[in-house]
Amino acid sequence: MKIVLLGAPGSGKGTLAKKISRDFGVPQISTGDLFRAIVKEDSPLANKVKEIMASGGLVPDEVTIELVKERLQKEDCKRGYILDGFPRTVNQAKALEKFSKIDTVILVELASEIIIERLSSRRTCPNCNEIYSLEDNKEEICKKCNTHLIQRDDDKPETIKHRLEVYENNTAPLINFYGERLFKVSSAGSPEETYQPVKTFLEKLEA
Ligand code: ADP
Ligand code: ZN
Repeated sequence: MKIVLLGAPGSGKGTLAKKISRDFGVPQISTGDLFRAIVKEDSPLANKVKEIMASGGLVPDEVTIELVKERLQKEDCKRGYILDGFPRTVNQAKALEKFSKIDTVILVELASEIIIERLSSRRTCPNCNEIYSLEDNKEEICKKCNTHLIQRDDDKPETIKHRLEVYENNTAPLINFYGERLFKVSSAGSPEETYQPVKTFLEKLEA
């Protein structure tokens, strides 16, 4: 199954992607995670991407499209994948149509006031990329691998505002682009409440 997850930063795409991946046996391809891995290297590309990410802007389409195209050619993507964070521009969506046949696009919807609250309390495991909310993990230690959690630089208040603007200007137009092909779900409830309708929908799609 080939799935695109669409939604603002902090809408809960990553959390939802992990649940789908676990139950439907397809890998989560997060461009944010791919870029965070690239940034750890010491290359001209790494330095450029680092700067862009820290500011909350978008990595240029050519770079992003090439990265995803290559990633999808790997063995683990044969049976399908969940794209989490790609496409993020209409250009990327058009490119994707040329190298992948997507089965469904899921739009995760959440009011921007809640998004800001959630991003501010989000903590991430720098080792395994697990996502936590401060309220549920006061120890700030990853339950999966015992690593100290961090707050991503781009989850700091100044950057959050800019990322939401970038989403409105560049990514929100994809809602029109996909139109009737969208399956919409609200993530105002718990992660499990968000997942249930998606699971039911995907099970039908698979049948
Ligand atoms: P979130 O969804 O929480 O904003 P991600 O982890 O998906 O964060 O992405 C982090 C950063 O990586 C983005 O702010 C952007 O700089 C870069 N990035 C991720 N995906 C893309 C993409 N498809 N196109 C351009 N830049 C991207
Ligand atoms: Zn971890």
